[in-house]
Amino acid sequence: MDIFDKVLEIYQEYYICPHCLGRMFSLLGTDTTNYDRGISLLLAITLENHRTYLARDGDHESAIVKLRTLAEKALYAPAQSVLKKEGFEYNKVSKLEKCYLCEDIFSDIHKYAEKAEEQLQNIEFKNLLVGTTVNSQIVNREDNFKAQFTLLDSESFKSHFNREVGKCLSLILGKPVEFAKPDMTVVYSLKLDSFEINLLIRSIFIYGRYNKFLRGIPQTHWDCRTCRGKGCEECNFTGKQYPTSVEEIISPEFVNKARAEGSKFHGAGREDIDVRMLGEGRPFILELIKPKTRFLELERIQKKVNKRNKKKVRINELKYSNKEQVKALKLDAENTRKVYKALTYSNEKVTKDNFGNLLKKLKDALENKKIHQRTPVRVSHRRADKIRNKKIYLLEGKFVKQGVFEFLIETQGGTYIKELINGDNGRTTPSITEIFGFSVVCKKLDVLKIC
Ligand SMILES: [Zn+2]
Ligand SMILES: [Zn+2]
Repeated sequence: MDIFDKVLEIYQEYYICPHCLGRMFSLLGTDTTNYDRGISLLLAITLENHRTYLARDGDHESAIVKLRTLAEKALYAPAQSVLKKEGFEYNKVSKLEKCYLCEDIFSDIHKYAEKAEEQLQNIEFKNLLVGTTVNSQIVNREDNFKAQFTLLDSESFKSHFNREVGKCLSLILGKPVEFAKPDMTVVYSLKLDSFEINLLIRSIFIYGRYNKFLRGIPQTHWDCRTCRGKGCEECNFTGKQYPTSVEEIISPEFVNKARAEGSKFHGAGREDIDVRMLGEGRPFILELIKPKTRFLELERIQKKVNKRNKKKVRINELKYSNKEQVKALKLDAENTRKVYKALTYSNEKVTKDNFGNLLKKLKDALENKKIHQRTPVRVSHRRADKIRNKKIYLLEGKFVKQGVFEFLIETQGGTYIKELINGDNGRTTPSITEIFGFSVVCKKLDVLKIC
């Protein structure tokens, strides 16, 4: 059966619109639209049968039957005109019939685009993509239809709809369609008689470095241990274990300016709660979820955050980032070098001269050597129990006063510094305690540099 016969066979039974007709033959011919495909088929069939009729070569009665099918069943105006011109009657369908497959959704694409346009007002994005979930009624109807007429060159309702609305919306908004990483995905939930729109707004990512000048605050929000964030007497019904965090200090200004629904803080490692982060700061990426504003004045936000939190936190080097860099940030944390300053205490009576000898011993044993650290007791509840080998690059020491020493230590990322000092009951070896032969405890720790 040729393609013309197939079209006529369809119209014997159903009225479908030119868009849907074209979709049934979508894989044939390129650089055209389904609508043009459909109209071209109808026109070509009309021409062919008009020719047969005029040739009077015996088949002209069947040509009139076919033209009538197009006139009455496909509601095709040129076929109606030909019949009229040649003096034939045809039944005029008084009430406009709806397309069996789409119920005229494709004739009304503007309506779908305009509804999205309304919802997109006041949201910033530079490109978009349309997605659709099509309900089962539409899908089943179309599947059965294709099976009935053995239509093997069609495309799906969904991809046809996505493309047409995408084109229309792109034109209305003057923004390009983007397939790989659209800022905005407009998702239609489509039924034959109604639809809904959901907007998927891609997160934005802001890279920066932070300093923490205050001991006692964690990097990120911690749920209260007792109530796990629900709020209880223990946490004064805040749901929080600590009143604030670096994350909670930094992110509100960004969330506010981006008109985001929330944020996620990704740090390149983290310092302990009682450890300060000095020097050039620690890299972080702040993910802003569902931002309605994507283009932020980063410098202004930085100034505001820094001014408001002078003694607590400072941020700098802000720039736009992406999801891939978040992954890289986490992976790199282990491979970086870190420089720490540790103020330590000991009960041992050590003189300044003694300390010089001890320090020499220490440098010999540790510098450019690897230490073995079994997961410290204090973190064993959240970290797997294993032994990590970490390199110590540099170790300097200073005698402050009796019992008080200050160390400058450069190590491989992920080294537990407090345990490098106190030995963690032999779980870290060698350690300063082990080499000195008496207990040394870290009292104050600062990160000076992450490189
Ligand atoms: Zn249709
Ligand atoms: Zn609580």
